[in-house]
Amino acid sequence: MLQAAYVYHPDSLNYVFRRDHPFDQRRLVMTMELLEQVQALPENVIHIPSQPLNEQLLQRVHIPEYIETVKQLSLASPAEPYLSQAGQYGLDYDETPFFKGMHQSAAAIAAGSVYAAELVMSGKAEHALHLGGGLHHALPQKGAGFCIYNDASIAIRHIRDHYGARVLYIDTDVHHGDGVELSFYTDPEVFTYSIHETGKFLFPGTGRVEERGAGEGFGCTINVPVEPYTEDDSWLECFSTVLQQVLECARPDVIVSQHGCDAHALDPLSHIHCSMRIYREMPKLIHQAAHDFCNGRWVALGGGGYDIWRVVPRAWSLLWLEMSQHAILSEIDRHPLLALPPAWLARWQQESPVPLPDTWLDDVSRWEPMPRRSEITERNRHICELAASYLK
Ligand SMILES: [Zn+2]
Ligand SMILES: [Zn+2]
Repeated sequence: MLQAAYVYHPDSLNYVFRRDHPFDQRRLVMTMELLEQVQALPENVIHIPSQPLNEQLLQRVHIPEYIETVKQLSLASPAEPYLSQAGQYGLDYDETPFFKGMHQSAAAIAAGSVYAAELVMSGKAEHALHLGGGLHHALPQKGAGFCIYNDASIAIRHIRDHYGARVLYIDTDVHHGDGVELSFYTDPEVFTYSIHETGKFLFPGTGRVEERGAGEGFGCTINVPVEPYTEDDSWLECFSTVLQQVLECARPDVIVSQHGCDAHALDPLSHIHCSMRIYREMPKLIHQAAHDFCNGRWVALGGGGYDIWRVVPRAWSLLWLEMSQHAILSEIDRHPLLALPPAWLARWQQESPVPLPDTWLDDVSRWEPMPRRSEITERNRHICELAASYLK
């Protein structure tokens, strides 16, 4: 059995809304190149999915009218009825506009996440990572928040249908994992745990601690909305304390995690003030949980992340280094300001509009502490206590 598989679908690079859109797939290339530079990505761990996405599986998550609209709007010149109904399906706004080939690239992304899930569930790999995935905002009936097809929900659906395994979905993106939550809101066999910036000020506006699931699935939805300007210590305290209680309660057979890295202070789309440290620590906690509770079964996906220069490649590389237990990780742990490979920096600095950081973690001693730190920490603690109390 392979210890960890790195799933990569070349067609996911065609998932491009337009040139100046914040969702920028160059981050996938930058991450792979950074990992190659530290010899962390040998060819035998890279898996390219061979099967297209199963249409019936897609229909288990999205309604047929929406899928047909996505397909029609993927054509070079979409027909009129589809153009005028794009808005109804969430595909005409600045945020998630339709584009040529949209169905093919979104389906390739979903196929990659299903493939990662299949590698783990069939026992071919203990862990699998698919950074092209994690499009957690797509809803059954519409696209939203840069997401066309919800590959996370589709992969979980596949796990449920084929293996009947109990799933814990962990969403560490700064935005609430609304689409995945909704897909399994009444399902007692799928727990969803999302930590995110409170929806009071941020898209998609949902993810209150009181959202707990419904019907048979009541109690299987866990939300920890944290305050704007939350920093590392408080974020990690919240994430880890609630995670332990969720694990005890959910007793999952497999963990599917989403690793949006937009809670970093430099991310332009949110107000959380964390450093690279959380992207070192959260994968470690999830990895440990997979071994403690799931016989190692762990499927990890990408997600948001809009500072593609200074944040995403480092954060996602740290995730793979943890998953694959690469030797450089203990060096980084001993020396958090270990330098990034000069060749990688030289290559990407040419394209980056901002100076690239040159160390694996951030030198937070140079950062200004946030005002109201203790008040924010207290408020977050209160939310965690509430979330934990609902699990008892
Ligand atoms: Zn492991
Ligand atoms: Zn996000």
